[in-house]
Amino acid sequence: MLTIDGAEGEGGGQVLRTALGLSLVTGKPFLIERIRARRSKPGLQRQHLTAVLAAAEVGGARTEGAELGSQRLFFRPSRLRAGQYRFAIGTAGSTTLVLQTVLPALLMAEGPSTVVIEGGTHNPMAPPFEFVEQAFAPLLHRMGAGLQLTLRRHGFYPAGGGEIVAAIAPAAWQPLEPPERSERPQLRGRILLSDIPHHVAEREASVLRRELGLGADEVQVQPVRAAGPGNVVMLRLQLGTVTEVVTALGERGVAAEDVAGRVVAEARALLAADVPIGEHLADQLLIPLALAGSGSFTTVAPSQHTRTNAQVIEQFLPVRFALQEHSGRPGVWCITVMAAR
Ligand code: AMP
Repeated sequence: MLTIDGAEGEGGGQVLRTALGLSLVTGKPFLIERIRARRSKPGLQRQHLTAVLAAAEVGGARTEGAELGSQRLFFRPSRLRAGQYRFAIGTAGSTTLVLQTVLPALLMAEGPSTVVIEGGTHNPMAPPFEFVEQAFAPLLHRMGAGLQLTLRRHGFYPAGGGEIVAAIAPAAWQPLEPPERSERPQLRGRILLSDIPHHVAEREASVLRRELGLGADEVQVQPVRAAGPGNVVMLRLQLGTVTEVVTALGERGVAAEDVAGRVVAEARALLAADVPIGEHLADQLLIPLALAGSGSFTTVAPSQHTRTNAQVIEQFLPVRFALQEHSGRPGVWCITVMAAR
């Protein structure tokens, strides 16, 4: 049986989610210890526990240690089932991260599935809904996999109460054609706000327009209904054959100008890097790439998430990742997956 050290490398929730997802795909049981040992609140929090219970339901798994705060979990799947699922996190925990836990398995299942998840839709340190919808899902489509997303209700920290729906069709995997970067990226801003003074969003919009040279109608302000206050600044970057989405969440005590400034700084870094795939998309693409069996893309220097995720994937699937910096282009990295020998 596989034993995973949850504190290895990045040491966060992704180690657990990748292990759950690939255990369902391969049928391999695993034991994970020191879960999220490198986080300030270690062990299974509500969102991680929901991910464990969701994976157990999808794969008819037997579990030990599936409890709040647990740092040790045993997971043995029996039979993967496509179908209609509903998972409620019960807090503002990230719906997209729970989705990404069961997604690999449902892409490999015998029929289509629909998954409804309640919780947060725009969370710190997690992919916002639009990132999964506009950046991640289109790349999956190109690899032969079906993922259609609907946002039914927005959910912001701390109130939560959001709801997303994912329609998943089994994949006929094909390798990812290396995405290409265009000469003239197109940028569009979108700012959401719920129960926050309108001037906050207008100030954020002004920063995006001024700093990124966008026209009035290239940045949209959209009030939304949610269970509590929330504000998110998003920038969609059409980089060529790939769309990236850079976001920052409004926070109490952080000026609107600084929230938008974070988006501007991250967007500038990505534009200057002259690669089609940013840091977050890179770590999230590794599982689909491995399931497809081969493929490659160029990106920024791999994050700790990317390196750790590659190591966990290699423990479950017969693949190897190569992470190499281009010899003539400093800062440009190529990530390739190939069959393990
Ligand atoms: P972990 O910290 O281990 O729970 O993993 C967090 C996951 O969320 C990783 O896959 C990150 O790439 C992803 N993530 C964090 N922030 C963002 C963001 N702003 N946009 C997209 N994905 C993100």
